[in-house]
Amino acid sequence: MSVTIAIITQKGGVGKTTTVNALAASFRKMKKKVLCVDMDPQGNLSFSTGAENEESLTIFDALLGNARADECIQETDICDVIPSNILLTGAELEFTGRNREYVLRNVLGEAEDDYDVILIDSPPGLGFLTINALSACNYVIIPMLPDIFSLQGLVQVLDTIDMVKKATNPKLKIMGILINRYNKFSKLHRESLGTAEMIAKNYELPVFKTHIHKSERLSEAQSLQLNIFDYCPRNSGVRDFYKVAEEIMKNLSTKK
Ligand code: ATP
Ligand code: MG
Repeated sequence: MSVTIAIITQKGGVGKTTTVNALAASFRKMKKKVLCVDMDPQGNLSFSTGAENEESLTIFDALLGNARADECIQETDICDVIPSNILLTGAELEFTGRNREYVLRNVLGEAEDDYDVILIDSPPGLGFLTINALSACNYVIIPMLPDIFSLQGLVQVLDTIDMVKKATNPKLKIMGILINRYNKFSKLHRESLGTAEMIAKNYELPVFKTHIHKSERLSEAQSLQLNIFDYCPRNSGVRDFYKVAEEIMKNLSTKK
């Protein structure tokens, strides 16, 4: 059975796309069949996985009903990908009627039997595209940096998820908060982690045991469109993401 996980937070630049890319590579290393869906008009995931997103069919075509999901899927060295490009910004205006929250869920329904894991990358913000991602997934992972702005944003994103649970996706579960770019030698980082754990406890949510170290190699792999396990397999950030993937699999197996 396939599981769909959306990586969500309204905060920009905290590692949503990096997390999708690295987890996709990790699950593939575990021999899982992985599909990534780029729901961000910036198309960063499409670029970093090496998917072509100018001439090809994109998630926008699938959302509009102009193409089937399988027609939009591209095979890359990292995983299968449904790409996006800047045209996806038009989606908000395109879908105005009832059930507009379920457009992505309906599209992924066509593909889920072919995959073990579907990962959704979402844009910064909590608008139409993010709400569609939240309505289409079984689980959500919230990446955050160990700093004050991320902590301030955390409560807002948790409230949005709560709203979506009530309105469109009652079975939605938060798999965990993922701390990215963590440096255990920084007092600020240790304190921010403590505060995040306190907020999580109040909401009865888990924080992933593994924190992702800062690693330039992760950025490099993305800009070179290379699989992290080919580019820098022994890098600490790569090892961290693999451990997170293991935590996720363990978590899923106890829920079966
Ligand atoms: P946006 O909200 O714009 O979609 P995002 O949340 O998807 O951003 P990313 O694009 O994944 O964030 O990351 C922002 C930048 O930080 C990228 O250049 C990425 O390579 C880099 N980055 C992410 N995680 C790490 C890390 N652990 N170590 C070093 N660089 C990182
Ligand atoms: Mg991104």
